[in-house]
Amino acid sequence: MQKIRTIRTIAALKKALRQARDKGKIIGLVPTMGALHEGHLSLIRRSVRQTDFTVVSIFINPTQFAPNEDLSSYPRSLNRDIRLAADAGAHLAFVPAGEVMYPEGFRTEVAVKELSATLCGASRPTHFAGVTTVVAKLFNMVQPDRAYFGRKDAQQAFVIKRMVRDLDMSVRIVVCPTVRESDGLAMSSRNAYLSASQRAQAPVLHRALLGARAEIRSGQRNCAKLKTLVRRTINSANEARIDYVEIVDVCKLQSVRELKEKCLLAVAVFFGSTRLIDNEIVNVYPKGRTSHAVANA
Ligand code: AMP
Repeated sequence: MQKIRTIRTIAALKKALRQARDKGKIIGLVPTMGALHEGHLSLIRRSVRQTDFTVVSIFINPTQFAPNEDLSSYPRSLNRDIRLAADAGAHLAFVPAGEVMYPEGFRTEVAVKELSATLCGASRPTHFAGVTTVVAKLFNMVQPDRAYFGRKDAQQAFVIKRMVRDLDMSVRIVVCPTVRESDGLAMSSRNAYLSASQRAQAPVLHRALLGARAEIRSGQRNCAKLKTLVRRTINSANEARIDYVEIVDVCKLQSVRELKEKCLLAVAVFFGSTRLIDNEIVNVYPKGRTSHAVANA
């Protein structure tokens, strides 16, 4: 097992990173909210492969939760998380308290316009500004050469890439494939909230996306028809309540009527009060061939 340092202050973090950088090490950052699972660990392992010094941040960021959301009940398992991060090869766990990230008097927000307002942003209007603000802070503190995000949260990855371009940040964003349970359910810390019957029904998200993919492969390009198909499949699970089913372009994340080139097919579905998301990127080639997303797209 890799020896890992756990650091709680920004001063100690910057000092450790200065030392690593002075030795010529390439720095990788994996931002998380903890309750680590194989999805997070795949990001950490990728960073360990591609960089010399991997920082995993574990911080349940209050500003990305709306008042009615699950901040207080979000799963917490810090000791286990640090052990798992170490096993995956991480060098440093940054575990700041709320007042370290948002001290008295904190007033600044980093927000990416438009891209933060569609899809999940429509039902969670303050969410992405919370994400981009905390990620911008982490980027400033760590100054990573590379930062690793999951395709599971596709909109988040697009929004962060836009922020990095718009604010001339010197970090390469690496987007890693969604890691799934054996029945296709995308791994998520929130899966722990599901009852047994909700858990049994939850793979319907992935099934619905695969159904749409098959239709696209057989030539369907009409997004209204594809969305109807996805909705029908999801609604076959009696505990599922659809938040959205959308097909958007990958530049502006705006709804498209006709599939062309690269699109994001994204869904958000409630099971009780637990909101699950999943997505597929669809590349449509001239002859009607489709392909899975290329990581880092
Ligand atoms: P979270 O702790 O939920 O904020 O997630 C931290 C990072 O892990 C984000 O970049 C997520 O996109 C990524 N992630 C979460 N679940 C998965 C998954 N099933 N597969 C790949 N990456 C994931």
